[in-house]
Amino acid sequence: NKLLSGKVAFVTGAASGIGRAAVIRFVQAGAKVAIVDLNEEDAMRLASLVGEERAIGISADVSDESAMKEAYERTMERFGQLDIVFANAGRNGTITPIEHLSLDDWNGVVETNLTGTFLTVKHAIPHLKENGGSIIITSSINGNRYFKNFGFSGYATTKAGQTGFAKMAAAELAQFGIRVNSICPGAIDTNIDDSTNRDDALLEEIVIPIEYPLGNQPLAGKSGSAKQVADVVLFFASNMSSHVTGSEVYVDGAESLL
Ligand code: NAD
Repeated sequence: NKLLSGKVAFVTGAASGIGRAAVIRFVQAGAKVAIVDLNEEDAMRLASLVGEERAIGISADVSDESAMKEAYERTMERFGQLDIVFANAGRNGTITPIEHLSLDDWNGVVETNLTGTFLTVKHAIPHLKENGGSIIITSSINGNRYFKNFGFSGYATTKAGQTGFAKMAAAELAQFGIRVNSICPGAIDTNIDDSTNRDDALLEEIVIPIEYPLGNQPLAGKSGSAKQVADVVLFFASNMSSHVTGSEVYVDGAESLL
């Protein structure tokens, strides 16, 4: 019997990076997965790689309420149950000094990272309520324990908000046997930089106390991998963590302790 045999998982931001690594880990552990991503082509490609019996690809924007509701309905239609939700979709937004961060950029990152997490959790509840389940939220060292990479203020705010929300949800949903935990990765090798705008000229105005590129992680001497994060997600998804809720785990090789 595998760790997630007979379980169904719903993963957002599942087509790339940490989400994709979690999909692979979950499938290896015996689960069936809904692969939910804004990028339809990559979601469908990963679903067909995993195979039709074990995976469904769904294109949806986590900040679109009706799309999220429908994504859960399609998952239920296909697999008949839901046990694990990995609320992982997110982006950096624009990296720039606070003085120059536009309201549109601020709202954009809040919408994806914070509102998207809220909607992912909200619409999971009707399907998890009866039998309980495990929700894992991808936060970050940013906003929680690490404040050195200036320019990430909008992003860091959403990541601090996600851990706050996770703890509120853990308290409120415990009565239904639903656990909610957060993971806080440090710099991880993924495609996140592709969707990031950096105002390098403006960033020169502020004194950034770290070296770029990010990834000074003493445990390994380099950035972590998506697979290393997915291993921790698997722990939270499985019954190995059956009495753990409202916790946050740092997956950063000590980056945030320096
Ligand atoms: P990634 O860019 O490789 O993957 C993110 C995926 O999310 C992409 O497939 C993208 O299409 C999808 N996505 C983006 N916006 C979406 C939306 N509105 N609706 C649905 N899907 C959407 O990035 P990643 O590094 O794997 O990021 C995953 C999570 O990890 C994010 O929440 C990010 O903030 C967090 N994180 C990443 C790092 C890092 O260094 N890579 C560190 C800490 C936390």
